[in-house]
Amino acid sequence: MAAQASPDLTEFYKLSQPKKPPCRVGFARGQVKAGDRPQLDAALSTDQGIITNSAIQQWFATRKQEVSVSAIVSHRKATCTCGGD
Ligand SMILES: [Zn+2]
Repeated sequence: MAAQASPDLTEFYKLSQPKKPPCRVGFARGQVKAGDRPQLDAALSTDQGIITNSAIQQWFATRKQEVSVSAIVSHRKATCTCGGD
């Protein structure tokens, strides 16, 4: 019985995959008041030529959240850790 195959744990691995933490923007979004979030979401999905990344950065800053412009850029492009699957 030395050659006994080890059990296939693939299914467990898949189920155990830790959820990726949100990016800085996603995290900061969770820190602001719930009532502020729809406003933020609308701003994030508005054209960057109308609502700039630095405007969003300042919006966060007034709510005591420090978020870098590059984090906002990747969040808007959905290339951050909270985007996709
Ligand atoms: Zn994000």
